[in-house]
Amino acid sequence: MGILQVQDVNKSFGGLKALHNVNLDVEEGAVHAIIGPNGAGKSTLLNCFVGRLKPDTGSVMFNGTSLLGIAPHEINQAGVARVFQTPEIFGDLSLIENVMIPTFAKRDGAYTVNAWGRIDQAAEIREKAEHILEDVGLAEKQEMHANSLSRGDKRRLELAMCLVQEPKLLLLDEPTAGMSRADTNNTIDLLKRIGERGITKIVIEHDMHVVFSLASKISVLAQGTVIAEGAPEEIKGDPRVQEAYLGG
Ligand code: ADP
Ligand code: MG
Repeated sequence: MGILQVQDVNKSFGGLKALHNVNLDVEEGAVHAIIGPNGAGKSTLLNCFVGRLKPDTGSVMFNGTSLLGIAPHEINQAGVARVFQTPEIFGDLSLIENVMIPTFAKRDGAYTVNAWGRIDQAAEIREKAEHILEDVGLAEKQEMHANSLSRGDKRRLELAMCLVQEPKLLLLDEPTAGMSRADTNNTIDLLKRIGERGITKIVIEHDMHVVFSLASKISVLAQGTVIAEGAPEEIKGDPRVQEAYLGG
């Protein structure tokens, strides 16, 4: 049984059927890629896992618990973290502060201000944050304002903000979008290293080089339906996949 089980999920926006009977079984420790042409429903599906959207019908189970009908911060506390298509960081704060913030207790989705007063824990949290910035290659920049980072570094910072939460499941929506080839390769290496911690990952990705470098399993979504599923080598030669891309 997978760590994330999606059954018969349907989601419409008005007359548009964005997801049609989607089933997904994500194995623990896997890097599960979801690929497909623009508008296939990939982001919509991910939004259903983090409480940003509610499916019309179907179920989403994480570790045996339903993720439907619980608030985004509760999903987060259950061990699901997400890297957004556009990094969500605190631009006016330093990198180290950005990474420390997610470790403070959250209530109703907002960070509690008095958490800053917990000085006894601050040194420990800071040390942990420094380690993670080192892991993602941002140790030298830890006192800089997040605003001043390049696009690639902002994505690395956001990844660090996820990792500090020690998630069980990490959702990545196009983690290399807009990156140079060199930055993309660095990100692939980084995600491989994170894999060694046993975090299960779901990666939405357009770049086939990234998909085939990372994924242990691939689901292909086209027009809201999973049209193919399997190991990378199976997907590579699947005529339905090629058709979906050329036709999309
Ligand atoms: P992908 O991430 O695979 O490119 P999306 O999940 O973003 O695709 O979108 C799937 C379809 O649903 C598209 O046709 C898109 O225009 C539509 N869609 C997505 N979000 C909304 C929304 N909030 N309201 C209306 N239509 C939406
Ligand atoms: Mg998308």
